[in-house]
Amino acid sequence: MAEKFPESLQQKIEERLRFYEDLGIGLFYKNRNISVSNENAVPAAGAADLPPVYSEESELPKPKAKSESARAVISPAAVAQMIAPIAAESLFSSVDRVKDDRLLKIREDIGDCTRCKLHKGRNKIVYGDGNPKAQIVFVGEGPGADEDKQGLPFVGRAGKLLTQMIEAMGLQRQDVYICNVVKCRPPENRPPEPDEVATCSPFLMRQIDVIAPKVIVCLGAVAAKTLLNTTRGISQFRGEWLEWRGHKLMATYHPAYLLRNPPAKSEVWKDLQKVMAEVGLPLPKKGKPG
Ligand code: URA
Repeated sequence: MAEKFPESLQQKIEERLRFYEDLGIGLFYKNRNISVSNENAVPAAGAADLPPVYSEESELPKPKAKSESARAVISPAAVAQMIAPIAAESLFSSVDRVKDDRLLKIREDIGDCTRCKLHKGRNKIVYGDGNPKAQIVFVGEGPGADEDKQGLPFVGRAGKLLTQMIEAMGLQRQDVYICNVVKCRPPENRPPEPDEVATCSPFLMRQIDVIAPKVIVCLGAVAAKTLLNTTRGISQFRGEWLEWRGHKLMATYHPAYLLRNPPAKSEVWKDLQKVMAEVGLPLPKKGKPG
């Protein structure tokens, strides 16, 4: 008989499976309703040995009804197989993570900033976080309440989703660099105003210059419009390769938008797969459902 997990772990696994469904990854549909015993399970394997992941919508098996998925019993071996790509050692793990003095210098230059009106309501400046030598920099809009409390970017609900997306790419948060256009929380989470963006964005640009990533991923319209200096709507150029000062740039939807519009997750996943290909990360395999 299949082993049972503690309820909290089962919930986490179900949450993660739903996330992959939203991205359009069909492997889990296939395995959702089978119970793999330890004896019959394929041993946990590296990504190369995994069964195919179906990423083309036309090939996706139909998801089962919610009530059916909630009742599914998943064995530890099946889960080990599912999370192997996430658990697999990051391609970027050998990258030197020594703090870059030039990033510290930019932080020092920001200081206890009062250059724009956003300083009045802030608790903490949210500078940026991650690998100073990252190949991928994610740029958001500005801190929310959780970020303002902790002084770290993308740690609230949208941040949790961003973390899941990074992990789906086969990376960890510490492999990439995450920052925002403005470093202080706008009141009521309103979008930053043009004067605030104009005051703060030079620091973002200096951060990107220092990190010199292979790819910049703009999360949402504010980041994209700031770096591209355009007034075009993000849906007009989302998913296209663009350029910023010699770095490839991909604009995609903001995780907060995805929380309101989950169907758009599959579009973002397509964009992120282009980013993965660009930096040489292994892509989910395509194949016919078995
Ligand atoms: N949204 C953003 O744009 N940035 C954050 O850091 C958090 C939420």
